[in-house]
Amino acid sequence: MIKAYLKHCEERKSDNLPPLALDAKQTKSVVESLISGLDDDFYLNLLTHRVPPGVDEAAYVKAGFLTSIAKGEQSCNAISRKHATFLLGTMLGGYSIESLINLLDDDETAEEACKALSLTILIYEAHQSIMEKSANNAHAKKIVDSWASADWFTSKETLPESIKVTVFRVDGETNTDDLSPATEAWSRPDIPLHAKAMLVKKMDKPLEKIEELKQKGNPLAYVGDVVGTGSSRKSAINSVLWHMGEPIDYIPNKNSGGIVLGGKIAPIFFNTAEDSGALPIQCDVSELKMGDEITIYPYEGTIKDASGEVISKFNLAPSTMPDEVRAGGRIPLIIGRGLTDKTRAELGLAVSDVFLRPVDPKNSSLGFTLAQKIVGKACGVKGIRPGTYCEPRMSTVGSQDTTGAMTRDELKELACLGFSADLVMQSFCHTAAYPKPIDLELQHTLPDFMHSRGGVSLKPGDGIIHSWLNRMLLPDSVGTGGDSHTRFPIGISFPAGSGLVAFGASIGVLPLDMPESVLVRFKGEMQPGITLRDLVNAIPYVAIQKGLLTVDKSNKKNIFSGRVLEIEGLGDLKVEQAFELADATAERSANGCTVKLNKEPIAEYLNSNITLLGSMIDSGYDDKKTIAKRIQDMKKWLDNPELLEADKDCEYSEVIEINLNDIKEPIVACPNDPDDVRLLSSVAKTSIDEVFIGSCMTNIGHFRAAAQLLKDKSELNTVLWVVPPTRMDEKQLRAEGIYETFERLTDRTEVPGCSLCMGNQARVEEGASVVSTSTRNFPNRLGDNSNVFLASAEVAAISAKLGYIPTSEEYLSLMKDIEPLSGEIYQYLNFDQIADYQESSSNVPLEMILQS
Ligand code: SF4
Repeated sequence: MIKAYLKHCEERKSDNLPPLALDAKQTKSVVESLISGLDDDFYLNLLTHRVPPGVDEAAYVKAGFLTSIAKGEQSCNAISRKHATFLLGTMLGGYSIESLINLLDDDETAEEACKALSLTILIYEAHQSIMEKSANNAHAKKIVDSWASADWFTSKETLPESIKVTVFRVDGETNTDDLSPATEAWSRPDIPLHAKAMLVKKMDKPLEKIEELKQKGNPLAYVGDVVGTGSSRKSAINSVLWHMGEPIDYIPNKNSGGIVLGGKIAPIFFNTAEDSGALPIQCDVSELKMGDEITIYPYEGTIKDASGEVISKFNLAPSTMPDEVRAGGRIPLIIGRGLTDKTRAELGLAVSDVFLRPVDPKNSSLGFTLAQKIVGKACGVKGIRPGTYCEPRMSTVGSQDTTGAMTRDELKELACLGFSADLVMQSFCHTAAYPKPIDLELQHTLPDFMHSRGGVSLKPGDGIIHSWLNRMLLPDSVGTGGDSHTRFPIGISFPAGSGLVAFGASIGVLPLDMPESVLVRFKGEMQPGITLRDLVNAIPYVAIQKGLLTVDKSNKKNIFSGRVLEIEGLGDLKVEQAFELADATAERSANGCTVKLNKEPIAEYLNSNITLLGSMIDSGYDDKKTIAKRIQDMKKWLDNPELLEADKDCEYSEVIEINLNDIKEPIVACPNDPDDVRLLSSVAKTSIDEVFIGSCMTNIGHFRAAAQLLKDKSELNTVLWVVPPTRMDEKQLRAEGIYETFERLTDRTEVPGCSLCMGNQARVEEGASVVSTSTRNFPNRLGDNSNVFLASAEVAAISAKLGYIPTSEEYLSLMKDIEPLSGEIYQYLNFDQIADYQESSSNVPLEMILQS
């Protein structure tokens, strides 16, 4: 092992990278060397600093070895019983906890075990064992008192009064793809390696600049006008912190700390920074230039230049930020604070005043919005006012593959051996089409990891995470997902980075500062030829006209940013259609979305989904019991189909009315900004090279419509990409003969999944002009220097047919031709009416599974 490891270290060093953390096999080899007394210092250093903490397989080997030494069952020259106990205490919890509790009974190790457990917060069920033990064991009593005094927190340094930093400035907007490019998604779990890709497409020699600025001797602050828009990528903050944060004791290849200053910081990125122990501050950054040495006064809310002049003011938010930084992040703060609160409650003590508690807004007698009621229900109260800190119960949690490996690592660090959220689902949609060896390894290992904790795992080729997760939802419930497009068409989701997703899945609640809401109310009648995608684009279109949204990045206005976008007036939409509206709220940087639907489409959707979930069990998908429980809960809702509704006197930050009668031609998002929406006529006749019909913004109706519009063509001058969202859509489209049209016109029909939308798999030609049905058109996402218009499948198909974006007249005329068929075209997948699925589902012994 050592030869191979040293070679690995050399290779990594030549790339200016630290070696990877040890895996279980390597850790076993280190243990064997220590037992044989070989080069003690070297191997002890590896065991101490290079094994991941928590419930990693390597941590299992480490904990087993240290336990045997601490108990005196195994001797080792390099490690005394006491030191082994100390090292168990550096593992953050998981496999070390039970051993440490037992070591409290041994005079030689008790004191060290006591110290370790006093500062450990990932205690979970072991809390009760220690409380019970404290009746007869003085060391256990000391631990309980220490938890009650919050020593785990007070032993850490407070957020300083002033912090001197050097500015690393990135002008304009930095999206998470700039920080963590999708093309490098495979390397995300290897934080140091992945961090090498940070900003390389955005600016000239960014990493060299970082190194140059570090020579000034201060920590660096990441500064930008708009920071962290786009996907919910923990990897984005991981990369920032790798270059600008501080190492964490005993945890290999991961940093914490760091400072982000942004004119606007996207909500998910802000939360991810908080969770990682960074200090994100929203403030005016116009006076902060690359290389400036500045001093931040977090409590005062000022930033001063080298001469002491105030160059920016801010309000430190949330109010608990100093505690979050002190605790090493929002997640450790919540877990630790919970441990202290729970211990004090059991001891009959008053609530600790050590912490800055979230401040709830003033009482109000006004009613609640739909989102406030849904979150209230998940917290066991009638409603939650904006600004209130709460922890809603997680009904459904989604994890996708390019963040899945990081979520797995976070779950291990959280010492999670079983999910507390009701349903956790893993997908493989982002890597299905062109998996790299590292993706294949993930596809083989992650399903078992998820199943063993009660999660549900899809298979590569099954399709896009949201198209599946939506089919597992319960009305009026709350969830989250490690993909910024986890936006529930029924209920509400607050998408998050992989750290928070792991927290939600593991602990079963999500920390949330309830956002304000913006109401978008549609009224009037849909006009001929207008599609749901046009209504999606109508939201920013009308907001721009009202001065509530600007496209320009400097001093950008965005009424939706960080708020919940609540949509009303389209109650008869099918749930699949409602998702188009919800999905695109990610592009508005909204924190969440609700769509008010009538009971009938929801009941239709649930009946269909019960059959689909039943057929999944029959086809061998795991975890069966979790799926069966979800079927049972769906049936329960159908027995008494009640839906929450906004109160008439509830308050919104803004109400935007959109009159459908006014939308008479399609609206498209222009290159390369999803907010830059314009009428079709203003971009008509733009020549188009490639067309993509796919992504989670599509459903089966879009493919039928596209095929109908293209069926009279025998060849195209444009490259056409066709990617159905799920394998069920593809199967049905093939059964209906729709696929023949596509396969005649293109050989780019791809495996169901994200395909071009993700940008990490196939790409469009460099510099291509593209019409795409995908979600976002940030620069370089679909292809280098591509110009991407986001539009409906119908506009996309007609553009493919003509080779240019149609005029409004051309578009409406072609749409008129397919209008008589619209009843057949826009039919959704009702699995309860499809024989294969019905039969498969009827085979499932639901009761037996539930009782197993
Ligand atoms: S289709 Fe695009 S937006 Fe949807 S989940 Fe996949 S990558 Fe994300």
